[in-house]
Amino acid sequence: MDHLMPRFDKLLVLDLDETLIHAVETPLPNRWDFRVFDYYVYKRPGVDEFLQTCLDWFAVGVWSSSGVLYADAVVRQLLGGPERLAFVWSASNCARRYDPEAGVPVSGKDLKKLTRKGFQRERIIMIDDSPEKLAKNYGNGVIVRPFEGDPADDELRLLLKYLEVLGPVENVRAVEKRGWRSRVLG
Ligand SMILES: [Mg+2]
Repeated sequence: MDHLMPRFDKLLVLDLDETLIHAVETPLPNRWDFRVFDYYVYKRPGVDEFLQTCLDWFAVGVWSSSGVLYADAVVRQLLGGPERLAFVWSASNCARRYDPEAGVPVSGKDLKKLTRKGFQRERIIMIDDSPEKLAKNYGNGVIVRPFEGDPADDELRLLLKYLEVLGPVENVRAVEKRGWRSRVLG
């Protein structure tokens, strides 16, 4: 068996800000991990192990609603570069639409952009801290708590346990993913 073949036949799409990292212009009391442009960047606890395991398990893409230069720079800091990723997408890949509840435009990460690239919708898992960005693809989304620098944050460790459950599922859209935390804690 090819050791480079991922364990599960799924595409995992990861958000950056408040999902894997937290970037601020004014540093927090705790030590930052790296700097990107004018930002002090804090890695979510466990992010290195999380990413390495995800790369063993899935085809992984990064999809941020930030600018392309920022997204590329963060990926370089987290992974050394984009080589092991299926793609690094940024704001220009998002669809801007008006959110009547928030009263502001939001950037949506539309599944269509992924299916057009040949990924099957039943096999796409999207991780994001902003439910509104996945408004058109709830069935594919696992919503995480936003990370804002808390050094005691445990979300990625729990998420990895959940992804081990979700990975082998044939159609991820058929699984109720709200309350996923209780499945791994329960
Ligand atoms: Mg985010």
